[in-house]
Amino acid sequence: MANVKVRFVPLSGGARCGHVRGVASEVAPSAGFRFVCYCQDCQAFAHFLGRPDVLDAAGGTDIFQMPTGRVRLSAGTDAVRCLRFSSKVFRWYTDCCRTPIGNTAGPRFPVVGLIHSFMSHQVDGRSRHEVLGLPLCRIYERSAVGPLPPNAPASPSLGVFALRASRIFGWWLRGLGRPTPFFDDFTKAPLSVPHVLTRGERAGL
Ligand SMILES: [Zn+2]
Ligand SMILES: [Zn+2]
Repeated sequence: MANVKVRFVPLSGGARCGHVRGVASEVAPSAGFRFVCYCQDCQAFAHFLGRPDVLDAAGGTDIFQMPTGRVRLSAGTDAVRCLRFSSKVFRWYTDCCRTPIGNTAGPRFPVVGLIHSFMSHQVDGRSRHEVLGLPLCRIYERSAVGPLPPNAPASPSLGVFALRASRIFGWWLRGLGRPTPFFDDFTKAPLSVPHVLTRGERAGL
């Protein structure tokens, strides 16, 4: 019997062109972890896609981490692609309109970091800030390419780190990482063969 899930605030996702679509269930500030990442890899990802508009003025990416099993890609999976730098992160995007979808850390890690560009900005008349809550922290701001925006969130406190760790641990305990839309449940193969950037490609970004 299928596990019945209560949908509190479904968050419709969709690439700009509407080809790739998804839905996330049980989205709420307490059921995720929103932050802004200024790391060089996130910036390189946006530049690789030709989408610097995804970044804030200082190069930050607005990310909402939530359990992978609560995200479903409902259409257009043929256009989903994967990019990897040297690190372990799988970066997912749409090939049709080069929209970043999110980041995962492999088939067993129960978290997807959804990038704001893949989310609707209005959900049932509520803004994204209301649905997700404000970002709880910023990370890697040493890689910022300019002054941080005045509304940039604070650096993470120990409490914020602990909150994130306990949420992720809870998702793992409850098996919320599965099924993942990004990896085959059985073979663990990624939905799309990752393209690993060569050093030359990386240098050109
Ligand atoms: Zn990053
Ligand atoms: Zn598209």
